[in-house]
Amino acid sequence: MSEADQPMVRELDHFIDGVHAAGASGRFNDVYDPAQGLLTAHVPVASSAEVSAAVAAAKAAFETWSETPPIKRARLMFRFKELLEQHADELAEIITRDHGKLFSDAKGEVMRGIEIVEFACGIPNLLKTDYTDQISGGIDNWNLRQPLGVTAGVTPFNFPMVVPCWMFVMAAATGNTFILKPSERTPSASIRLAELFIEAGFPKGVFNVVHGDKSVVDALIQHPDVAAISVVASTPVAEYIYAEGAKRGKRVQALGSAKNHLVVMPDADLDRTVDAIIASAYGSAGERCMATSVVVAVGRTGDELIARLAPRVRALRIGGGMEPDLDMGPLISAAHRNKVTGYIEAGFAAGADLVVDGRGHTVPGHEAGFFLAGTLFDNVTPDMKIYKEEIFGPVLSVVRVPDLAAAIALVNAHELGNCVSLYTADGSAARTFSRKIQAGMVGINLPSPVPPAWHSFGGWKRSLFGDHHAYGEEAVRFYTHYKSVMQHWPDTQQ
Ligand code: NAD
Repeated sequence: MSEADQPMVRELDHFIDGVHAAGASGRFNDVYDPAQGLLTAHVPVASSAEVSAAVAAAKAAFETWSETPPIKRARLMFRFKELLEQHADELAEIITRDHGKLFSDAKGEVMRGIEIVEFACGIPNLLKTDYTDQISGGIDNWNLRQPLGVTAGVTPFNFPMVVPCWMFVMAAATGNTFILKPSERTPSASIRLAELFIEAGFPKGVFNVVHGDKSVVDALIQHPDVAAISVVASTPVAEYIYAEGAKRGKRVQALGSAKNHLVVMPDADLDRTVDAIIASAYGSAGERCMATSVVVAVGRTGDELIARLAPRVRALRIGGGMEPDLDMGPLISAAHRNKVTGYIEAGFAAGADLVVDGRGHTVPGHEAGFFLAGTLFDNVTPDMKIYKEEIFGPVLSVVRVPDLAAAIALVNAHELGNCVSLYTADGSAARTFSRKIQAGMVGINLPSPVPPAWHSFGGWKRSLFGDHHAYGEEAVRFYTHYKSVMQHWPDTQQ
């Protein structure tokens, strides 16, 4: 690429109190186009004064926003939904440029974000509570769900739109105001969302965006006016924010890492199973918290699975996310590619069979892009680092076990428990599996079982800290105080 073809490097802004705010700290992070390996933007790191300005704006907005009738909040959500639909392609392109995922994947993400807004449009009904007439003579009891105040969210790089939507949409619908600290690696979509939110008619200060890294997260945790924090991140970060927030009496909803198993029984339909594994393990280059990372081959299925998977992994079509007819794009950064490559080296050194090696892959026209091709390991064992740790790349491990009981024991012994799948033709095996398995989301003959917006999303064990899952009714509970009111007017006629 000649110098004249190099894209201009943009300077991104915060979004505070309804307007863009240029970064004033003098500190920036770099944002890359992962498909070209090119610097595309500088994103500011907010100072503690900038974080305080966002908190002050959110606190001021809370006064009237929390008193706004839910039906009026819902009407604004309807307008926001229309705007998101009108700008779906634009948002998807922004996501692809920052993240590298395929445009079709990014479009799917936008649609998932819109589904959260659709759910939030029902907020008057969701906030309805119980009432008991006459709990005692002349005394009635009802419950209220009231907003918390200023809430904040910290989001990962891999879903720059939908994960913020899990948070700010539900927080705002329930009457809170919100400050988003998006990933410094994929920050652009959050700013466009904030602009569209204002265009929909939401008051200024209801949704604010401050960019940055750990220092900004710490400023939000330490701020006395932040009542609650939602975080989706790697487990050490989720655990840190959970512990530090809880220590200060804040509510924290903290979703962490994943190591998702997909168990294949000997009676499974292997055509469908292999299609599902390929899409789930390698889609979005494995950078999804719902990606299949381990296939557990039960009984005699191992050899047949490897024979079918290996040619499919070698045939994966890889390229820049804006190009058509591809299976996956690049990884997020050169550093992350190095980390994933390190796992491949570790797996090989530990004695796993490297059936397909994705290292050293280049894509014509994208020579500087952060690409790594699909990788497949067989005969992985639970003591290996590639089994124990989240890789977050296009690397799939096959572990062989003798029977369903051994498969369940294996999955349950892992410290992470985000999602899990079982492929089988046996309803009894499916029932036992879904009852005994220790994970937050279970798919039977389905990979990557993402619940829709009106259910809730979250893992078990060290994939989730705190007691609330994301979105759905769990989000209504997380973002509201529960109050029970008892009323007695002694002079009324019973
Ligand atoms: P990450 O943990 O590096 O960063 C996530 C967020 O935390 C970012 O906004 C980042 O700026 C901030 N952060 C990073 N280090 C921090 C620190 N020391 N203290 C405070 N904040 C810090 O994660 P990532 O690489 O952006 O995203 C991938 C990870 O997120 C994977 O582990 C993946 O499994 C997880 N994830 C989980 C879910 C889920 O629903 N459970 C969904 C998506 C991603």
